[in-house]
Amino acid sequence: MVTPLSLRTVDEVLTAHRTLEGAGFEVRRPFPRPGRDLIDPFLLLDEMGPVDLGPGQAKGAPDHPHRGFETVTYVLAGAIEHADSAGNRGSIGPGDVQWMTAGAGVVHSEEPAAAIRQLGGRLHGFQLWVNLPRADKWTPPRYQEISTVDIPEVALDGGVARVVAGTFAGATGPVRTHSPVSYLHLTLQPGAQAGVPIDPDHTAMAYVFGGSGTFPDPAVDGQLVVWHRHSGDAVAIGADDGEAPLEVLVLAGAPLGEPVARHGPFVMSTRAEIIEAVEDYQAGRLGRIAR
Ligand code: MN
Repeated sequence: MVTPLSLRTVDEVLTAHRTLEGAGFEVRRPFPRPGRDLIDPFLLLDEMGPVDLGPGQAKGAPDHPHRGFETVTYVLAGAIEHADSAGNRGSIGPGDVQWMTAGAGVVHSEEPAAAIRQLGGRLHGFQLWVNLPRADKWTPPRYQEISTVDIPEVALDGGVARVVAGTFAGATGPVRTHSPVSYLHLTLQPGAQAGVPIDPDHTAMAYVFGGSGTFPDPAVDGQLVVWHRHSGDAVAIGADDGEAPLEVLVLAGAPLGEPVARHGPFVMSTRAEIIEAVEDYQAGRLGRIAR
């Protein structure tokens, strides 16, 4: 006998605000925001673009530090080049993912690819920050670069799901995470519906970046749906009838339930650890990128 899944209700629908990041590129950021400092275990979500840039217009995030959490970059258009003080280098293009564990500390740069900086081009991508459990904040930095061909795609009734992390519909994403985290990209054709099982204890949210849908509350492009925890063991997503497919990131994870002290690029557990991080960075102890 199969127990039917019960569907979660919506806690809040947050509209992303526009802000500048790095050297001055615009992002849409649903959180953090006043009143929603984090959605445990997630600390930040940014959508960069989609934007069509002319020659010399592309801006990135030159050398800067992180400590205590993970930065996850998912590119849909264009390419982002990465280099860090742990000696990792890479370039990710459409459909690729970079999952970087800053851990004890790293200095990295995230820049549009040289060809886009020089010639211009289209950029579209996401950055998610995932907190590390307190016990893992001092783990050595780790860099996982996942090619689009290694991300499983599951056919849905009227759509497709890409499984970056976690398990969905029999497919498991290739990323190794420090705590249970799911990262799905769903594309649903107009009128299509999908159900996604979620651990009742986990935080779950969906960011809409194309089309509009029901969760069951309505949400449109640029809005983040946050479901109530413990209100069900699945979420239902329906694409509105219309011309555009519904594009959505579905993110879920086990809340850490630990104290969070954050300041800019550092996310630790206490204010003293933040001061230590700033001092370590200023003293050069997070290293530098070899060039
Ligand atoms: Mn960064």
